[in-house]
Amino acid sequence: MWKNMGLTGKIIVAMVLGIILGLFINYSGLNTEGSFVNNYVTNGFLAIVGKLFVNSLKMLVVPLVLISLICGVCGIGDIRLLGRIGTKTFFIYMVTTALAIATAIGLGVLFGIGKGMNIETEAAFESEKAPPLLDVFSNIIPSNPISAMANGDMLSIIFFAVLIGISILMVGKPAKGLVQSLELINEVILKMVTIIMNLAPYGVFALLTKAMAELGLDLIWSLLGYVAVLIGSLAFHFFVTMMIVFKLSSGLSVRTFLAKMREVQIFAFSTSSSNATIPITLRTVTKRMGVNNSVASFTIPFGATINMDGTAIMQGTATIFIANIYGIDLGVTEYLTVILMSVLASVGTAGVPGVGLIMLSMVFAQVGLPIEGIGLILGVDRILDMLRTAVNVGGDAAVTAIVAKSEGKMDLAIYNDPDAGSKDVFDGHIDENSEREFSEVFSDGIMGSEYDDVKRG
Ligand code: ASP
Repeated sequence: MWKNMGLTGKIIVAMVLGIILGLFINYSGLNTEGSFVNNYVTNGFLAIVGKLFVNSLKMLVVPLVLISLICGVCGIGDIRLLGRIGTKTFFIYMVTTALAIATAIGLGVLFGIGKGMNIETEAAFESEKAPPLLDVFSNIIPSNPISAMANGDMLSIIFFAVLIGISILMVGKPAKGLVQSLELINEVILKMVTIIMNLAPYGVFALLTKAMAELGLDLIWSLLGYVAVLIGSLAFHFFVTMMIVFKLSSGLSVRTFLAKMREVQIFAFSTSSSNATIPITLRTVTKRMGVNNSVASFTIPFGATINMDGTAIMQGTATIFIANIYGIDLGVTEYLTVILMSVLASVGTAGVPGVGLIMLSMVFAQVGLPIEGIGLILGVDRILDMLRTAVNVGGDAAVTAIVAKSEGKMDLAIYNDPDAGSKDVFDGHIDENSEREFSEVFSDGIMGSEYDDVKRG
């Protein structure tokens, strides 16, 4: 049965099994410090499999973003159009993020979360310094592109790639061969993504079993009000607000979008990282939804870095919750400040696990809430990070589809084909056509005539 199941089905089964097994390990007390299970299963086998899987995704992020974006800029071919797509995307990202926080604040106030609660802060929150927002902007131009790539500084990489792309366009015709080669490299990297996706069921299973075995759900009950409103806001924003915006502005089928997003969101949920999910998001929107690479190669990495609807929702909900606990009244001005600061904070939040919480201190400082308050929600944040990351990548893909559709850069036949891009499974064989080309290249090209020429001197 497992063999005949589609990849999405396998990933979903892996997710469910992982969660169940992890919770079982947690509640049966098997995972106590120093036990066999703790040493060799959760911190041994599962930790290694999970790490290998996340590493294999991260490994592809920088080469994929760099090469696909250079190809994307060359594909657009018109610098003004590039500017228009960039501006439009940025605008929609910011507006939808503001809507997300407004939802969170609205629901938080409506349910009065945290009012009358009296909990001691056990885990004192030592705020790691949130990077000054100005740095985010001044680092867009890397002084050293290689170190930007080594550090995975997404905005710097985007800048560098766009600049190369524009310069290639300026060189014009003589650069045709270069563009073709880059497009080939891009295809090769996307094949690498395919290979790694086939390992996903095992990776997802390992990551989720370990996470649930370690975290359990106990802490969630003690903060039920906060958790429930946060999850409700995430769901409302993604399934209602975003899907209305999606439908009205693109006319595309919501059901198809949600079905094709499932895998991507499970990846995001398991890794808690928008950045690590970039290869999967990019592959899904291009190969499964028919978005042209010239749009997606820019909007997806850009969104993974600056567009965080889920993170912003967490920040809005947390602000209301902590303010209520400390009995601090927030007025309209403070709410507007929270909206503005959370939008900015989500721009400054890198798409890696847990950063949203660090950026929360920036929001708190601005509205005068005690930073130690963050300690109260620290314990549940790891699990909620998984959920909000799924919403973060959902927003990136939705806006990408909206922009692509509005610019006529979407292949509707691919979008409407439920199987598009899902049958691309690596079975260890080169398909017949490429095998022929492959051997032709090697026997006639390199090993054949040219090789003989070389031998003949
Ligand atoms: N983990 C989130 C992401 O990668 C960021 C955060 O909210 O911590 O999108």
